[in-house]
Amino acid sequence: MVSADAAALPMTADDTVPLIALRGIGKHYGGGRGGPPPVTVLHGIDLEIHAGEFVAVVGSSGSGKSTLMNILGCLDRPSHGSYHFQGQDVGLLDADALAWLRREAFGFVFQGYHLIASETAQENVEMPAIYAGLHQDARAQRAQQLLARLGLEARRHNRPHQLSGGQQQRVSIARALMNGGHVILADEPTGALDSHSGAEVMALLHELADAGHTIVLITHDRAVAAQARRVIEIHDGRIVSDSREPAPAPREAALAPPPALAGSPAATTVWWADLREAARSAWRGMVINRVRTSLTLLGIVIGVASVIVMLAIGEGARRQVMERMGTMGTAILYMGSKPPVTGGPAGQLTEEDLQAVRELAEIRRVLPVIGDPVTVRYGSVDKQLYVFAASEEMPAVHHWSVAQGRFYTAAEDHDLAPLVVLGHKAWQHFFPDTPHPLGQQLIIGTSAFEVIGVMSERGAESGAQDYDDMVFIPYNAGRARVYQSQTQPDYVVVEAMSSADVHAAETAMRQLLIARHGGREDFGIGNAAARIQAEAATRQSMAMMLGLIAAVSLVVGGIGVMNVMLMTVKERTREIGIRMAVGARQRDILRQFLTEASLVTLVGGSAGLVVGLALGAVLIAVGVPVVFSVRAMLGAFACAVITGLVFGYKPAQTAARLDPVRALAGE
Ligand code: ADP
Ligand code: MG
Repeated sequence: MVSADAAALPMTADDTVPLIALRGIGKHYGGGRGGPPPVTVLHGIDLEIHAGEFVAVVGSSGSGKSTLMNILGCLDRPSHGSYHFQGQDVGLLDADALAWLRREAFGFVFQGYHLIASETAQENVEMPAIYAGLHQDARAQRAQQLLARLGLEARRHNRPHQLSGGQQQRVSIARALMNGGHVILADEPTGALDSHSGAEVMALLHELADAGHTIVLITHDRAVAAQARRVIEIHDGRIVSDSREPAPAPREAALAPPPALAGSPAATTVWWADLREAARSAWRGMVINRVRTSLTLLGIVIGVASVIVMLAIGEGARRQVMERMGTMGTAILYMGSKPPVTGGPAGQLTEEDLQAVRELAEIRRVLPVIGDPVTVRYGSVDKQLYVFAASEEMPAVHHWSVAQGRFYTAAEDHDLAPLVVLGHKAWQHFFPDTPHPLGQQLIIGTSAFEVIGVMSERGAESGAQDYDDMVFIPYNAGRARVYQSQTQPDYVVVEAMSSADVHAAETAMRQLLIARHGGREDFGIGNAAARIQAEAATRQSMAMMLGLIAAVSLVVGGIGVMNVMLMTVKERTREIGIRMAVGARQRDILRQFLTEASLVTLVGGSAGLVVGLALGAVLIAVGVPVVFSVRAMLGAFACAVITGLVFGYKPAQTAARLDPVRALAGE
């Protein structure tokens, strides 16, 4: 096969090489296995047509005229025989080269006009030039001129259904002339017209013949045929007479071959102009089929919106857990004494026990805590506050910072120093007018403590206790001065080396303490980190499941696109045929349908984005934690478009692979 680029046809000013030369052309249909019996429609047609001739092919209905014309116009291939166009064997051309030949050499005029219903007269006329890559302005200007020449200036913006038959046929003639119309192939052009319009069309063809166009007029009407300069009669697929004069007079007015015939095909095609054109007609298609389009869009919108919202909910939940982890620490365990399940008294967690736990490899910090509501007084103000006695490691364990002043040191704790650090609310309660309360004395219980710092504000958190409402004192000072009756901590906060170690830390602690307590499990270990981690994992998998459901809905949306595209292709078979007849290549059709699919998904994706954001806003308003991620949004959007392209590809390919003749017949 010769590709379009290699198929530059030789220029023939020389009249001895016929423009069209058919040798033994035959065409039969059917004969396949299981199909109808073979029908031979054309039997060994030999025919030469020279540039500038005005030929009528006449014959009764069913004699094979249209079949012959389709072969002449490269819409169909003969079953056997050879066809040379300007000396070039057409049988050797591939689909693209044939499209190019149709576009540059031929102009078709059909009995049924074959205009695209959704496009205006002007747009119909411009179409062949789009595929030829003519610039938009030049295209519009030429179409306008042609329409004016055919008396349709005022009807430029009418759609075909707003035009009479004669007007539609004139539009189709203008379309045939758009790319030059070197050879006009007219199949029963007057067949559907009243006599007046028919006469007008014939007059036009005469004018074109006089201007040097080669015209092949196909008709069953002898009176019409008689107007041509040469009449070929066909009967049952055979030429039975030919009125050709022995030597055709060389025509002065013969058109030079259109320049594109000698040049490189479609060299001027600009991809983005094509794309814009495809997008324009895709948009028009969407608007015309509003209901169907919106139903398809709905699938995509739901898909994209749900992906965005689900991921935002998942992320919100994850952040919430992360936040809790942040305040509690990701590696925190609690330990306290407890009566064993087997009965007997609760154990004692001694200083030595704590020291032993501290020395375990899996453990980073051990923080014994005593805390109870105690009356705290400053001047004449007093209040019951939770007084939290713990070592200097408290801020580190709780991932908490000091806002003012400092925290007490290990040495101060050891020395029973009477120092206190205030929670944010405690500070505001006792010192509403004192921005810097450092150095003030608080009476806790019965002892005086000096304020050395204020903790930063912790804010509302999910824990039961409000840490901002507490005051913090050294563990040993607390035991000595506030909680004298207390021999062991209320509970012990233990921090594992890392969040990955919490289970190992729990096991090691349990074994160690059982051994130290003579085999009795008279203590309890609460693994806060493990609980939070489990919760995070649950939420994570929930978010993933939601995401999966959302993704499925996106795929369902994509299948919707495919369904609609397949329907569109079916519905628009004839339009595809027309586009191919005026010279669209397979890739032009493919691009058009892919553009339509992507346009649907782009619009659907954008709407989905908006709907998703709106839903998210509603969720935020009702207090559900939602965190939008730009990545998720872009991802969902991209997924929608890719889904559209993937699911739109098959229908587009189906459209592109249609056989021009069958598509034109609307099969
Ligand atoms: P005309 O245009 O002269 O009326 P056609 O060329 O359309 O005749 O058709 C010639 C014959 O070929 C008819 O008998 C028709 O039934 C047959 N024919 C045309 N197309 C097909 C096809 N796709 N499959 C089978 N038979 C066909
Ligand atoms: Mg016919």
